[in-house]
Amino acid sequence: MDTTQYKDVYVFCEQREGVIQSVALELLGKARELADTLKENVVAILLGKNITNKAQDLIAAGADKVLVVDNDLLKDYLTEPYTQAITQIINEQKPSILMIGATTIGRDLGPRLSARVSTGLTADCTKLEIGEERELLMTRPAFGGNLMATIVCKDHRPQMSTVRPGVMKKMTADANRKGEIVDYKINFNEEKISRVRLIKTVKEDKGMIDISEAKILVSGGRGVGSQEGFNKLEELAGVLNAQVSSSRACVDAGIIDHSRQVGQTGKTVRPDLYIACGISGAIQHLAGMEESEFIVAINKDKFAPIFNVADVGIVGDVNKIIPLLTERLKGMME
Ligand SMILES: Cc1cc2nc3c(=O)[nH]c(=O)nc-3n(C[C@H](O)[C@H](O)[C@H](O)COP(=O)(O)OP(=O)(O)OC[C@H]3O[C@@H](n4cnc5c(N)ncnc54)[C@H](O)[C@@H]3O)c2cc1C
Repeated sequence: MDTTQYKDVYVFCEQREGVIQSVALELLGKARELADTLKENVVAILLGKNITNKAQDLIAAGADKVLVVDNDLLKDYLTEPYTQAITQIINEQKPSILMIGATTIGRDLGPRLSARVSTGLTADCTKLEIGEERELLMTRPAFGGNLMATIVCKDHRPQMSTVRPGVMKKMTADANRKGEIVDYKINFNEEKISRVRLIKTVKEDKGMIDISEAKILVSGGRGVGSQEGFNKLEELAGVLNAQVSSSRACVDAGIIDHSRQVGQTGKTVRPDLYIACGISGAIQHLAGMEESEFIVAINKDKFAPIFNVADVGIVGDVNKIIPLLTERLKGMME
């Protein structure tokens, strides 16, 4: 393949019900950095129905150009129409790089696209940089998180990667940024699309905020021990207006749902405050939370590795400390 024909950094900007997902803005921030290094452009791909009015937000977040495909077939996410649209864009526009959020949608779309255009895909990247030969260096944990592998896609284009929400940083939005908005037309193969129909959408419980969006997380590990211990964390979270998350140990023990798991096989979080309660700080857990703004760790073992990343460490029994902390904070919040 003649890779020299390919240029620009493309980002698939996921929207749900017309709301641009945070991960799209994070990817645009990273894409801006990569494109500036390459002296190329950032191009956003926005698919949906009645979404053209969101294109300016993508320009404010770092895009130079937005390709909008506004079509009834793209109203709700379905693998086939979304794959057809982006495949046509790749074949016609020849992007050098394509970034996708590692959401449930992105994890479905990325592999399908890479197979259709015969290129590679590096999933769950934690670092993206430009190498000496202008290639994309895609770094991700390997071998159970025990080492970081840097992967290059030498002979095929686009160089595709998925990145989890919360890993990259958004640019500060600039409403005065100028860019081009293109109304892009796709020749859909409707016969192929009609094989799958969306019958019903079942939404997650809205009362719970996604942990990757939370500003404060009270996170419990095996040291919290039981459901009763987690009820105490819920109380503390209530006082702080926080969400409860956990290590994998408590998910495996059936105490808390997987959607609340932080780490390599859970979610990546970057809250303003992360309170780690009875969590040892295994590398797979740290991979999901070490970029938090401020980390408080409570652990009875003063040598627990979590203290290496903590801003404040409290050595003691979490089951005694949490109720005391909750009471004290209640008093302060009143
Ligand atoms: C491929 C792979 C992927 C993984 N992905 C993830 C992931 O996404 N997220 C994740 O979290 N893990 C993940 N793990 C598991 C990870 O390796 C650890 O096993 C796990 O994080 C341990 O959870 P923990 O810290 O709650 O438990 P432990 O490691 O058992 O630590 C419990 C801690 O609690 C402390 N403690 C005990 N009692 C008290 C008390 N009363 N008061 C205060 N402190 C107390 C102990 O001193 C200890 O430090 C993964 C592992 C593999 C191999």
